Amino acid sequence: MTSKKPALPQLSKESLEKHLLPELYQWALSHGLLVYKPETPQTQTAMVALTTYPTPVPRACFESAQEVQVPFNELYARISSSDWLYKETKLLSASDEDFTGKLFAIQLKLDEFATTVSKDVIQPLRLGIFRSDYIVDKNSNSIKQVEFNTVSVSFSGFSGKVAALHQTLDSKGLYQEESNRTPFFQPNYEIPVSFPSAGFAKAMEVALSKYDTPNDRANLVVAFIVQRGERNVFDQKCIENELWENHGIKTVRLNFDDVLTELKLDANSNRLYMKHTGQEVGLVYYRTGYTTSDYEIEKDWDARFFLEKSYAIKAPDLMTQLSGAKKVQQLLTDDTILTKFVKDEHVKDQLKETFVKIFPLDDTPLGEEGKRLAMESPHNYVLKPQREGGGNNIYKEDIPGFLRGLDKDQWNGYILMELIDSDATEGNIICNGDSTFAVPILSELGVYGTVLFDHDSNILYNESPGWLLRSKFGDSNEGGVAAGFGCLDSVVLY
Ligand code: ADP
Ligand code: MG
Ligand code: MG
Repeated sequence: MTSKKPALPQLSKESLEKHLLPELYQWALSHGLLVYKPETPQTQTAMVALTTYPTPVPRACFESAQEVQVPFNELYARISSSDWLYKETKLLSASDEDFTGKLFAIQLKLDEFATTVSKDVIQPLRLGIFRSDYIVDKNSNSIKQVEFNTVSVSFSGFSGKVAALHQTLDSKGLYQEESNRTPFFQPNYEIPVSFPSAGFAKAMEVALSKYDTPNDRANLVVAFIVQRGERNVFDQKCIENELWENHGIKTVRLNFDDVLTELKLDANSNRLYMKHTGQEVGLVYYRTGYTTSDYEIEKDWDARFFLEKSYAIKAPDLMTQLSGAKKVQQLLTDDTILTKFVKDEHVKDQLKETFVKIFPLDDTPLGEEGKRLAMESPHNYVLKPQREGGGNNIYKEDIPGFLRGLDKDQWNGYILMELIDSDATEGNIICNGDSTFAVPILSELGVYGTVLFDHDSNILYNESPGWLLRSKFGDSNEGGVAAGFGCLDSVVLY
């Protein structure tokens, strides 16, 4: 192993087009790296956007991102069940009525519901399935956190496949010219592979094993609550396949319409059942419900409430979802707040190392500084609302005009974050549909986390089951793959 940054292959046009790309496409398609095409029948698929080569990532950065995941899981588990989060979410609801406010309104209804029933019918367990995203900051050569996702984290199923694809292409010598079919990176450089979807399934299995039921355990199902018209089905399917093939656990896929028509709540036990089969739903796993457009009709909010109040374990429950608000991320950069949740000084320092400056836009002195910076030096910042799923942020010079167009009481619903400055990688090639793009790319490393905990923040299971590398065009602000801004990549360590 060596620490010099590897160059990427520089293949001739012929080697790329005649040898590498056909092998890449055939491997990817035969291993199911697919998404549904927009608005087409159930059988029409396309390859997910990918890079041809792995992207060099410093080993120290890669390792430190993984080291902080278990502590981050614990931190967010503690935050989720805290009075502090409840109070902050209530405040935030006033500046973001459309989303945080509506989710919090469900929490208020849940609290009221809880006062009318026996404690035994309220589920104490919660499952967090998280992903913490980082960019390597070129100035400090260390990882800086972009955001912490607490709901619907994607590509746990594809991440390992892309790494395995790159590893295979390298091992078969396809990153070299035809006269030299030897590996280009390996064994000097490692292309590590992780299978986070296997870790997700394991965490779900552990959650179900702690779920008490008077019914036949073999009949428990996990309900995947999915978006209508979801295109990223096959990545999610990897988790379902793991559950069935390795743990014998059945799954069902339901959208918010199905929730109200296919499920029922037992009036006495508050348990959730499939109406027609009588199977008990032990775990509700959300792959929707994280953004306003997921609640297309008023009834979708009813569906969310219906699921939340059931005895099933939720991954995540409402407050755990809300702990992933960008506002919470901003508040955690305040040492006094972080100290409430992280007692170990060394761990606290490790977490803080990953933070960049984030400002509120409220009436506090820090908020006043944030407002001044937003207006005077916007080119160093990104403005973020309390939204998920890509395409919601406001960048650089667009910030002042955008803020001026808002009502002042909405400003507090946004945070102002320092832009993380990373080096673009040249020489990689993005394959998207039938086109390839040889442009400088910027990469974002995501580390997955799974944590099972109860409403007193007792932690029953805490793991980090792998990682994801996504890349985007170097001149694009956003990078979401599902949102169409980026592609899947893998890591080559140096
Ligand atoms: P979302 O929840 O919608 O994914 P993110 O906070 O991840 O929102 O922002 C979307 C994208 O914007 C990121 O994937 C990254 O490409 C870019 N981005 C966000 N914050 C920063 C930052 N501080 N510095 C540089 N790029 C950023
Ligand atoms: Mg993101
Ligand atoms: Mg996000």
